[in-house]
Amino acid sequence: MDIINLSKSCVKCAKCVPSCTIYQIHRDESTSPRGFVDLLALCAKGDLKLDKNLKNIFETCFLCTTCTTQCPQNIDTATMIIKSRIAIARKYGISWYKKAYFFLLRHRKIMDFAFSLTHFIAPCAFKSDDDRLRSRFALSKFGKRTIFPFAKKSFLNKYKNYRFSPRHCEDSARIQSNSNTKDSPKDSKDSSDSPKKVAIFIGCLSNYNYTEVGDSLIHILERLNIKAVIPKQECCAAPAYFTGDIKSVVHLIKKNIALFEGFWAEIDAMIIPEATCAAMIMVDWKHALELSDEAEKSAWIARLERLLPKIYMASDYLYRHTNLRDLLKDSPKMRESITYHDPCHAKKVLGIHKEPRDLLGANYEIIEMSECDRCCGFGGVTMQSQKYGFAFGAGSAKAQNIAKSGANIVSAECSACRMQLNNAMDNNGVNTRFKHPLELIAKALE
Ligand code: SF4
Ligand code: SF4
Repeated sequence: MDIINLSKSCVKCAKCVPSCTIYQIHRDESTSPRGFVDLLALCAKGDLKLDKNLKNIFETCFLCTTCTTQCPQNIDTATMIIKSRIAIARKYGISWYKKAYFFLLRHRKIMDFAFSLTHFIAPCAFKSDDDRLRSRFALSKFGKRTIFPFAKKSFLNKYKNYRFSPRHCEDSARIQSNSNTKDSPKDSKDSSDSPKKVAIFIGCLSNYNYTEVGDSLIHILERLNIKAVIPKQECCAAPAYFTGDIKSVVHLIKKNIALFEGFWAEIDAMIIPEATCAAMIMVDWKHALELSDEAEKSAWIARLERLLPKIYMASDYLYRHTNLRDLLKDSPKMRESITYHDPCHAKKVLGIHKEPRDLLGANYEIIEMSECDRCCGFGGVTMQSQKYGFAFGAGSAKAQNIAKSGANIVSAECSACRMQLNNAMDNNGVNTRFKHPLELIAKALE
C-alpha cells in the first residue's frame, strides 16, 4: 500500500467528512478521513514523526469504512490506518492487557478455560440480565458498563461430537421441489437433491459469549436438511488486526488456512454468522498478509484465494443458496417488530444488507430506524478501553435512533455490535432488546 500515492488521489472534496463516525462526535479536521489521509501521507514522506500525539489521533478511527463508501476516489482510509497501527505497535509496543487477550486468542484451550472460569466469577462484579452482564459499580465517568455474558461451555466444545439429525426434512424436500417453479434467489446449480454440507465458522463472541447464535444456526440448517459440520478453527484475528498486532494476525491466518484446507474438499460452503469475522476472512486476511513481513506471503495469498469462493456470511448463504425463504413463508407471522442495524462489516465491506431484511421480513414487521447503517461505535479493543468516551458517544447516538424507531427488537448479524448496542441502550435508558437475525429466524421456524 503506497500511502503517498493514495493521498495524492484525494481531491479534498470532503464528501467523506460528515458521515465519519469519529468526526460526528469529535469535530476536528485532524480526526476526519481527509485529515487522517493528509497526516498519514506526511508521516510516510518523513515530514512528520510518528509520535504519541499522532498515535493518539490514529487510534480515534473506528475502522468503520464509512468514508470509503462516500469517497469518489474510493480511498481506503481504514486500511491506511491499520498500516499506521502496525507501525505504532512496533514503535510503542502493545498494552499488557491486549497482549494477554491476544495470547488467549492464539491459545484456544487456555481461552476455553479462562472464559469458563469467568462464567463462575463474573457474578461477583456483574448482574446478569438476559444477554448482558451489567456492572454492579460505576466503572467510569460514563456510568455502568454492560458487557457480554460468559458461557459455561463454548459453542465449539458443546458441539464437539455433533451429529447431523435433520428435522422436518419432508417439509424441506416439499418446499425444495415447489421452489423450482418460483422466482427464488437460490442458484439453479444448487438444485441437487443430495443434502448439502456446510462448515460453520462461529467467531469468538458467538463461541464464548452468545452461544445461542450457533444453536439457532444449527436448528435452521437441520430444518433445511443441510448437514452442518463444526470443524476445528481459530480466531479470525480481527481484534489483533485492528490493534496492529500483525504477528498474531499472521499466526492465526496461517493456522486457519491450514485447518480449512484439511476439510475443504468435503464441504459445499463455510458460513459465518458474524459480520466482523466474515469481512476479516473474506477481505482483510489478504490485506493483512500484504501488510505483513511474512516471507511467503504470495504463497499464502494464493492458498487463501483458493478457499474464498466457498466462504459466505450466514444470511447471504441462507438467502441465496437454500430454500429458507420458502420455508419461512410457510411459518407463522410473529408479534415482534424489528429494526435492523447494518453492521459496517456487512453492508459497507461485504455489501450485505438486503438479505437479512428479506429473511426477517417474511415473519416479522420491519421498522427502519433513521441512519440504519450509521456505525454503532464498537471500534475494537482500543476504542472499548482507552477511547471508551468516543465509543460511548457513537453508541448513544445509535441508541436514540433505535428508541425512536419504536421497534421491540434491534437485530444485527454481528456480536460486536450486540455488545456495543446493549451497553449503549442500557446507559441511555432504551428498553429495546437485541436479537441476532438467526435467533429470530430459528424462533419463526419452531
Ligand atoms: S473508517 Fe470510519 S472513523 Fe475512520 S476515518 Fe473512515 S469514516 Fe471515519
Ligand atoms: S471523499 Fe475521498 S477524495 Fe474527498 S476528501 Fe474524502 S478522502 Fe479525499
